[in-house]
Amino acid sequence: MGHIQAENLTLGYSRKEVVQGIDLIIRKGEFLSIIGPSGVGKSTLLMGLNATTSILGGRLNVLGRNLGTIRYNELKALRAKIGVIFQGFNLVSRLSVFDNIASGMLHRKPLFSALFKHYSNQEYEEIFEYMKVVGIEQEALSRCDRLSGGQKQRVAIARAIAQRPEIILADEPISSLDPVSARSVLETLKNANEKYGITVVSNLHQLDYVLKYLLSMMETVQMAVLALILSVTIAFPASLFASRNTLNIIIPGNHRLARFLKNGIYTAVRFFANLSRSINEIIWALLFVSAVGLGPMPGILALGIHTSGVLIKLFSEGIETVQQEPIDALAATGAGFIKVICYAVIPQITPFFVSMTLYRLESDVRSATILGFTGAGGIGIFLFDKLRGYENHDVTTILIIIVITVAVIDRISAAIRTRYT
Ligand code: ADP
Ligand code: MG
Repeated sequence: MGHIQAENLTLGYSRKEVVQGIDLIIRKGEFLSIIGPSGVGKSTLLMGLNATTSILGGRLNVLGRNLGTIRYNELKALRAKIGVIFQGFNLVSRLSVFDNIASGMLHRKPLFSALFKHYSNQEYEEIFEYMKVVGIEQEALSRCDRLSGGQKQRVAIARAIAQRPEIILADEPISSLDPVSARSVLETLKNANEKYGITVVSNLHQLDYVLKYLLSMMETVQMAVLALILSVTIAFPASLFASRNTLNIIIPGNHRLARFLKNGIYTAVRFFANLSRSINEIIWALLFVSAVGLGPMPGILALGIHTSGVLIKLFSEGIETVQQEPIDALAATGAGFIKVICYAVIPQITPFFVSMTLYRLESDVRSATILGFTGAGGIGIFLFDKLRGYENHDVTTILIIIVITVAVIDRISAAIRTRYT
């Protein structure tokens, strides 16, 4: 017979049936995950296992007790053997890690030693062992409101272990956590399961993950777009100074000062372009991460700088191929250089600019997916983490999201391109 056994079980609330016809056997020491979208009744099922939700039909046996007929006193004793972990941690935030974990022992401590927080050496050692199991011993005396989400959840697990339960029920223990903490929390649960043979039943809201990936893919695209705006803002004016023909319009004449200025500016802009282009965006990202910290900002700067180098080169090569005669004609009317550039240069190169810029958008999105490896925001953080953890299922999900996004951007840019050529 299983630790938990259900036959044709229907659970719900005051005659509202939520889950019907459940047949289930969970054996001692198993680790079971219940996966499904929001609202299907995962919590209802899980909380049925400690008789929080009502049995409306069928049979449910937990640790040898029939929950359909159990009396209140027996239920209290049964619940002491079942630890529960919630999404929201449910710790006492003003108490220390130690006190929160110790509170898991309350049901088996005499009232007075509980009130005066008196613990025997053995109890201290036991609590310390639980801290080590969940890896929180460094923070033993910290107040719980000082901890990160992942640390809080690990304290909640230690509290549940301190109860010396036979079963742990975990209701979406990782949904409010970032992926790295989520993994460490799941590993902690697995440790508890293996080390103490505790049966673990856990709800996982897996679709949350896809949503998280999609949102961070959107962040990646935003990074690429902002980087592109930054780089066009730099590269467009700069490329006018990096092309001989436009430089001749801006600084007319052939006297020595003009030639000196032209050469100086030309060389300086080209140098900047070569420098920023020849340093890979990953290297820029590492530099900016150490300068401005983690997050999308260093990613935007890195991509922006690298891409502006590329665009200055491409733009100026495009500008140098425009027809000279219209420029000479306009200059001969006595128009200033801004007007000449606006009327004679820009119209000639617009299709080229648009197509180069769109090309860079695609390649920036691709690069932005990788930049997360350096801590510079976007989906790369997830990708890196999942690759390192050999979580191939997630890696595949992320790669599919990336490929679809790049394909969508490809279609959009093709549409824009045809409008401008
Ligand atoms: P899940 O955990 O899979 O997101 P739930 O078990 O929380 O789903 O909820 C399943 C259904 O039960 C929902 O339709 C919800 O409206 C209903 N429900 C949840 N809690 C209660 C309650 N306390 N009283 C009445 N209905 C509830
Ligand atoms: Mg739920």
